[in-house]
Amino acid sequence: MTGIKIETDKCTGCKLCISACPFGAITIKNMKAEILNNCTLCGACSSSCKFDALQFENEKLQVDNDITEYKGVWVFAEQKNGIPVSVVLELLGQGRKLAEQLQVPLSAVLLGENVEDAAKTLITYGADVVYLVDSPVLKHYNDEAYTDVFIQIINKYKPEIILIGGTTYGRSLAPRISSRLNTGLTADCTGLEIDKDKRLLLQTRPAFGGNIMATIVCPNQRPQMSTVRPKVMKSLEPDASRVGEIIKTDVTIPSNVKTKVTKMVSAINEKINLLEADVIVSAGRGIEDPQNMKIIEELAEVLGGAVGASRAIVDSGWIGYNHQIGQTGKVVSPKIYFACGISGAIQHLAGMSSSDVIIAVNKNPDAPIFKIANFGIVGDVLEVVPLLVKEFKSRIS
Ligand SMILES: Cc1cc2nc3c(=O)[nH]c(=O)nc-3n(C[C@H](O)[C@H](O)[C@H](O)COP(=O)(O)OP(=O)(O)OC[C@H]3O[C@@H](n4cnc5c(N)ncnc54)[C@H](O)[C@@H]3O)c2cc1C
Ligand code: SF4
Ligand code: SF4
Repeated sequence: MTGIKIETDKCTGCKLCISACPFGAITIKNMKAEILNNCTLCGACSSSCKFDALQFENEKLQVDNDITEYKGVWVFAEQKNGIPVSVVLELLGQGRKLAEQLQVPLSAVLLGENVEDAAKTLITYGADVVYLVDSPVLKHYNDEAYTDVFIQIINKYKPEIILIGGTTYGRSLAPRISSRLNTGLTADCTGLEIDKDKRLLLQTRPAFGGNIMATIVCPNQRPQMSTVRPKVMKSLEPDASRVGEIIKTDVTIPSNVKTKVTKMVSAINEKINLLEADVIVSAGRGIEDPQNMKIIEELAEVLGGAVGASRAIVDSGWIGYNHQIGQTGKVVSPKIYFACGISGAIQHLAGMSSSDVIIAVNKNPDAPIFKIANFGIVGDVLEVVPLLVKEFKSRIS
């Protein structure tokens, strides 16, 4: 167990550590620092004490596996109707760079039914090897079956790195695998690099509400696991001349899966997948009336984009939850994000601030959304959006 201790004979009560703690977990009593129960052991205060009074105790971690046995970079090849989803191709692009630095093969793990064509696609996008398991049980994503089969393949071939798309399925699969294997998982990485000497994956992601970037390593366990959101990494150009190996992997298909997918239903109105859209037009409470959603839909349609929403209008029932962007909704990073009548609350920004270009329309010039917008239009959304539709229509035609 890791712990933090104050050496009271060294502590002068100078309070330097208090300002270093982002959680307000240090107080001073009787001129001595005291750690409160809400300490998360984040370590941010570790170097703040000039008097060496703050001591971190790290019990040596128990290493469950011989990490030198683990070699190779893997990508989970999530597929929909036999076609790899876009983030898989992006992860193969990044995976190639990591594999080349480590001088190991890049492999994809493909689970499904009748998906061999997808295996060939994965090779054209950079995979050297595709571990394929073809079974009716794996036709649709299923937590229990996918986790079970994936773990069998990991235990057999022992990869050192596994990259998984930060999609709905990927976010469910990755923690199941990491907890079953007792290994580390870093979610929503925005940068992946290699420390070649230590063969460590340097996993960078925003922390503390996006205020700092943290680089996280998993030194004692293997595989090292990361999830990455769609559109963060770049895919390679497909190369039809690439050759690779498709290994039909021998695993035990679970026979008593407790849940079964009986029917797949496409979300109503979700013409374009929000996570993959290049353009998103989002509406907030500033549109004033659910009837006005039609101008937002029109702008999205003219730009070939998808419709997003703030939680305020989802909670009001103006649009379905599957459109919500933010901390408790979807996290998107399109090329262009329109925020129409959205104030820019931190919880909304958590879902869209990595968009390439943000265009905000708001009648309040002091709205926080303007602080992160690349282009701001101060005006009534009900007037500005129809003008944009008209202008884009005339230019596009
Ligand atoms: C735990 C937690 C999780 C949350 N998760 C999310 C989340 O995932 N996503 C999310 O969005 N929110 C989330 N929220 C809610 C968030 O805090 C805000 O309440 C919400 O984002 C506000 O939505 P809004 O910007 O549409 O509405 P408001 O904050 O009410 O803003 C409306 C904006 O429209 C402008 N406006 C009004 N009329 C017009 C007009 N005619 N023309 C132009 N502008 C106009 C106003 O100036 C204002 O800036 C969460 C909150 C909590 C506590
Ligand atoms: S910084 Fe060190 S000496 Fe100062 S109050 Fe904190 S623990 Fe005590
Ligand atoms: S470890 Fe983190 S949470 Fe705990 S006292 Fe130090 S800074 Fe605060």
